[in-house]
Amino acid sequence: MSTLIDKIARPEIASLTPYAARGGARAEALQLDANENPWAPPGASGPWNRYPEQQPAALVSRLAALYGVEHDQLLLTRGADEGIDLLFRATCQAEQDAALITPPTFGLYAVAAQVQGAKLVSVPLDENFGLKIDGIIAAIQDNPVKLVFLCSPNNPTGNMITRDDVLSMAKACPDQLVVVDEAYIEFADTPSLAADIGVTPNLVVLRTLSKAYALAGARLGAVLAGPPVINLLRKVLPPYPLAAPVIAEVSRALAPVNMAIFAERIIRIKQERARISDALSCSTFVDKIWPSSANFLLVKLKPDTDITARLKQQTIHVRDFSNLGEGMIRISIGAPEENDALLAAFGVDPENTIAERGAVISRQTSETQISALVSLDRPEPVHIETGIGFFDHMLEQIARHGGFSLVLNAKGDLHIDEHHTVEDCAIVLGQALREALGDRAGIGRYGFTLPMDEAQARIAIDLSGRPAFRFDAEISETGAGELSGQMVPHFFETLGQHLGAAIHIEAEGRNTHHIIEGIFKGFGRALRPALARQGSAIPSSKGVL
Ligand SMILES: *Cc1c(COP(=O)(O)O)cnc(C)c1O
Repeated sequence: MSTLIDKIARPEIASLTPYAARGGARAEALQLDANENPWAPPGASGPWNRYPEQQPAALVSRLAALYGVEHDQLLLTRGADEGIDLLFRATCQAEQDAALITPPTFGLYAVAAQVQGAKLVSVPLDENFGLKIDGIIAAIQDNPVKLVFLCSPNNPTGNMITRDDVLSMAKACPDQLVVVDEAYIEFADTPSLAADIGVTPNLVVLRTLSKAYALAGARLGAVLAGPPVINLLRKVLPPYPLAAPVIAEVSRALAPVNMAIFAERIIRIKQERARISDALSCSTFVDKIWPSSANFLLVKLKPDTDITARLKQQTIHVRDFSNLGEGMIRISIGAPEENDALLAAFGVDPENTIAERGAVISRQTSETQISALVSLDRPEPVHIETGIGFFDHMLEQIARHGGFSLVLNAKGDLHIDEHHTVEDCAIVLGQALREALGDRAGIGRYGFTLPMDEAQARIAIDLSGRPAFRFDAEISETGAGELSGQMVPHFFETLGQHLGAAIHIEAEGRNTHHIIEGIFKGFGRALRPALARQGSAIPSSKGVL
């Protein structure tokens, strides 16, 4: 019985001995085997004089964890695009083998087929952009098809192919690779098919960091498949496909502490997708909008309007899909203020066109890894995880009482003590608030003091840009929870330095937990009017803050 690889591989590739790549740190060995330069280039941020690993182990591990597959079920590539190209080169003999596509779909499948000289078999989607499964199965019987490309969510139509349909296709096509391109799956409400890789040997899933993980410029994607398919593709992979600075930057971006921020941004894009879709459906320029599980909308414009000229004039780029029918365009979901500009061009007045004040800070040192997202003009979400339960609760008080959204994740050296984590969270929160405030135009600037029932904390703030700190409260050294007493003033002093604020704190009481909680809550309360936007002027006679 012949194996799957016998059936799908080009014979000369199946029998190929790949080039022996020499990359990666060869431990403490003297590295005199790859004709590299012994010195890094001047000013380099890493050892770029060395060849990178073909498949950097740490990054393979990270993505395998992210996608829920084993290390040997994953191949890192320069974008999902390279995965498509490798599939053609490993399986399709020029002038002989074919790939099946279901237009309208991602244009690169056809281009990659042409580059390899492979034939193309097209089985178009039906009028609702659904798969014609029987048509696909019939076409496979009549043609030497090696690859079946299914795109889900599909670009440019935005709809999904169900898991049942994909798996029944994989079953009906045992002599083909069924390739599911999941470039946009993070924006969908259904899970990836990655979990089915292990049980379906001819299923291949393509993933990318370009869309949901905001790394289009880094060029990183992955092919997920059973180990025999991965090993076959590896034979046609160049020796050093991933640049060392890219490996370093992508690893940094994918640090576990950043995941909550990616998750929050995916939610924002989905919310914006719903908002734009609703708003555009009221536009007199729009004939139809298709539901989308991706970060774009397929839209049909009404004929005989000047909307295309208007968009062009305002330099708002949308993708023309008139090959699918007159007036068809694809619109990517942007940031809220960008989407507001788009809606305005479509003659729909968005409710609030003031750009939201927000910032993201990601800070990684040998002691702590911290990332924070703040959004000053919305109260949700507030999600905090520092590994110090009591401190989480206190940071949450600042955000809730401050009336702003805060997503903060920290992973610090708590096995030593809480000092570095608390201090570095103060730095990151201060930097994030400072960046979100921008030029501080329109802000209230000052906080005010208010009674805090039995805790009696009095906090005054001036978001002056100039750090100053006064602390007058007796807090017992044991503190509360895992937060020691001395870290309370240290937290606020560090925060003020990085935020650029004068902070005055006075408090007294008998119960340490209450005093500390009163200070954090009171700080949030005092921050609320100081952050709030009340106009557009810089609140200073100097004209700058
Ligand atoms: C954007 C896109 C890709 C390309 O992803 P990269 O990782 O940037 O190469 C692949 N497939 C589809 C359907 C896409 O829309």
